[in-house]
Amino acid sequence: MSELKTALHDSAWWFVLSEGKLVALDKGELIPFGCIEELPFPDHVTDNKRLLGTYNSYSCYLVEVDNHLDMGLGEYVSLRSLLGKVQDLLFEMAGRAFQVALFYKTHRFCGQCGNPMQEIDWEVAMKCYHCQHRAYPRVSPCIIVAIRKQKKILLALHNRHQKNNYPVYTTLAGFTEAGETLEACVEREVFEEVGLKVKNIQYVTSQPWPFPHSLMMGFTADYASGEIKIQPDELIEANWYDIDDLPLVPKHGTIARKLIEKTIKRCR
Ligand SMILES: [Zn+2]
Repeated sequence: MSELKTALHDSAWWFVLSEGKLVALDKGELIPFGCIEELPFPDHVTDNKRLLGTYNSYSCYLVEVDNHLDMGLGEYVSLRSLLGKVQDLLFEMAGRAFQVALFYKTHRFCGQCGNPMQEIDWEVAMKCYHCQHRAYPRVSPCIIVAIRKQKKILLALHNRHQKNNYPVYTTLAGFTEAGETLEACVEREVFEEVGLKVKNIQYVTSQPWPFPHSLMMGFTADYASGEIKIQPDELIEANWYDIDDLPLVPKHGTIARKLIEKTIKRCR
C-alpha cells in the first residue's frame, strides 16, 4: 500500500460508521460531502477521523461513532443497500471504510505475543513494539467463475438464497486456499460444487466484496467433461441454461452479472 495522501481541497467525503451501518443522505450524492466547518456534525466527533484515500481528488475519511449518534444529516443504512445506488468507486471506498474499521477493531492486540498493538500513522497497519510483529487489513481472495457449454451457461441456486421469494441463479464461487493458484482454485471449486471438469480458464476482472473482506476474482471457463452432481451443503440445484432462456440472475453492479453477460457474448 502506498503512502496515504491528503487531497489539496478542504472538502472531503465522510464515511461515518456506527454499529455496522453508515450515514447516507437520501438526496444528492448519498455519502456526506463538504468542509468540516460547513457540516452539521456534532463538535469533536471527527477528532478521531482516519484518512482512507481520495475519490475524485477529494480526501475520504472514516469516522466511527457509538450508538448511531445523530450526525445532523442523513440516516444510518447498511453497506449492501448502497450497492448499485452510488458510483462503483464510491461504493468501493465505503467498503474500504468498513474493512479498515473492522481491521482496527480486530487487531488491538498482537497475535504473536499478546501485547497491545499501536497504529502506524503513515499506512493502514498495526505494529507490536514488543515483538515487532506488524499486521495489515485482511483480504480474502475468492474466485468466481461463469462456465459455458456450447450455447448454455451453468447457473446454480445457492443455499444462502433459499429463503428468498425470488430465487437468484448465479455463478459458482469459493475461497482460495493457502498455497493454491487462482486457476487451481477454479478447477477445485467447480469440481467440488458440481462435479465437472473445466478448461480454457480465463481471467476477466475483479471486485472487492466487503462482506466482510473478500476480493472476488472473476473468470470464464468452458465445460470439459462430467455430469452435474451438486454438493448439497452449498447448492440446491445447478443446471445448464440456454442463454435466451435465463432465470433471475444477480443485479447490475455485481461481478457475477458481468461474468454472465460476458459468457452470453461468448456464446453468440
Ligand atoms: Zn507482539
